[in-house]
Amino acid sequence: MVNQPPFHAYASMTLLYDLHTHSTASDGTLSPSALVARAAEKGVRRLALTDHDTFAGQAEAGAAADQAGIDLVAGIELSVRWNNRELHMLGLWVDPEEATLSGLVARQAGAREARARKMGKKLDKAAGLAESYERACALAGSEVPGRPWFARVLVERGRARNMQHAFNRFLKQGQSGFVATPWVDLDEAVAAVRAAGGIAVIAHPTRYGLTRRKLRQLLRDFTDAGGQGLEAAMPGMTRQQHELVAECLRDFDLAASGGSDFHSPEQLWLELGKLPELPAGVTPVWDIAG
Ligand code: MN
Ligand code: MN
Ligand code: MN
Repeated sequence: MVNQPPFHAYASMTLLYDLHTHSTASDGTLSPSALVARAAEKGVRRLALTDHDTFAGQAEAGAAADQAGIDLVAGIELSVRWNNRELHMLGLWVDPEEATLSGLVARQAGAREARARKMGKKLDKAAGLAESYERACALAGSEVPGRPWFARVLVERGRARNMQHAFNRFLKQGQSGFVATPWVDLDEAVAAVRAAGGIAVIAHPTRYGLTRRKLRQLLRDFTDAGGQGLEAAMPGMTRQQHELVAECLRDFDLAASGGSDFHSPEQLWLELGKLPELPAGVTPVWDIAG
């Protein structure tokens, strides 16, 4: 991954926030409480834990946040389907107990599990491995193994030079180990987040390789479905991306969110709470929360 320095200084806000982070409840390397401790150490005052398709880390994070005096926002990052693409959508300020959303999350977990088993079978065949599913499970610990864990198995067994090579050679769409997952539709995910009292936010809009036209089409569908937010402050944004996102916020009347997408202290190019400023004049997502 390229370490792209941001084009302007980091936000000098009085209240540091980070509304997109991961823990060991999904593919992060810090436990929920260690993540909260690190956030506190970096001066973050409002933190959302947004693990992939699970609320498993929320209780531990909540207790740690109470201790540290941090405002913890209950969140999740859902993998969703839109026009045959896989996109990521955040649900922020959600009630994890609410039935519609927790039902959807349970279904997503089932889909993840089925995908992992299928991926294991395909890789065993394509890469001449044995029991790659079992090995990926062992590496992943409590999490259902996703592609990064299978990439590690491929590296460990000498079938790929490194993680990137494993993705390019076996795991990317179109490669022999790729398995499409029946993720929930965008519309349904938005409805479930709203049913749970939360705000739906399109995550990292500049990371999907969408043209400006496609992105606008996505945001039209998203707002029609009741979506209210767009991630607008992310580490390493270019000026061009910043301008595109600002235009989208304005044209679709969306609230702006921001987050580092922190997974691990090993990501040396990003840090909890270290975000560019939101575009001038936009509504921050916390202003419409509650
Ligand atoms: Mn992740
Ligand atoms: Mn994501
Ligand atoms: Mn993420």
